[in-house]
Amino acid sequence: MKKRNRALLSLVLLLALLAGLWYLRSAQGGPQPVRPPAAVDLESIPPFSGEPYVALADNVPSFLPGEMTTSSYEVYSPLDGLGRCGAASACVGVDLMPTEERESIGQVKPSGWQTVKYDCVDGKYLYNRCHLIGFQLTGENANKQNLITGTRYMNVDGMLPFENMVADYVKETGNHVLYRVTPIYDGDALVAGGVQMEALSVEDKGAGISFNVYVYNVQPGVEIDYATGESWLEGESRPEAPETAYVLNTSSKKFHLPACSGASSMKKENREEYSGSRESLIEQGYKPCGTCNP
Ligand SMILES: [Zn+2]
Repeated sequence: MKKRNRALLSLVLLLALLAGLWYLRSAQGGPQPVRPPAAVDLESIPPFSGEPYVALADNVPSFLPGEMTTSSYEVYSPLDGLGRCGAASACVGVDLMPTEERESIGQVKPSGWQTVKYDCVDGKYLYNRCHLIGFQLTGENANKQNLITGTRYMNVDGMLPFENMVADYVKETGNHVLYRVTPIYDGDALVAGGVQMEALSVEDKGAGISFNVYVYNVQPGVEIDYATGESWLEGESRPEAPETAYVLNTSSKKFHLPACSGASSMKKENREEYSGSRESLIEQGYKPCGTCNP
């Protein structure tokens, strides 16, 4: 009995110690939620015209003076009700950079994900699981808060040159770079129309690295429906949307897959079976259920 009491006491002490450490870490400003960038006026972004990116706000990133820090960190936004990534930010330093090889990320299905191939796309696959904060910067790999559905073109021609620039600078100088990538969606679209990338080198106050750009999530030669991720070859007509069975809640204006628990627990008078396309429901003012993500 005495032995057990002693074991219990050490367990309590251990837990108290852990709680104390956790408190100290948060009091020192441990992981903070991501502060979104200054609002971007989507209307002001010109349509894609052959260049993978355009500068925003005269290419000046929207970090605040109080955010300048030389301690490395990385923070990600929780997925929203539609399963979409939000802004991800980091203070990139050599200590965050990966020392291990990348492992498979094929198990992550970002919002709007589709596996489709076109001959006109380098590597054939239209979509990549695109890291918001590149793997080479923080070693963050199969993190679903850091992976979006992005075209091959955005990934390789749009984002990679900026990631390489930051990675090279950090490796060469040992300095830190504030870095934030924000996917920008049109309304409830599951696929981002583009990403905003901002970076600012800390120790030299932006002399080495400073940019604020919008990178288009497009693929030359391919048309994309950003609401769903569906795609088709430019110049060809859009394929017919497949008919899918859904269950509607006419009171909450949510729609579900038939197997969702929300569909079976629904009041009879609000329940309606529906067969058709996802878009037609969204056009009628219905919103996809956050549990079954129809
Ligand atoms: Zn549901």
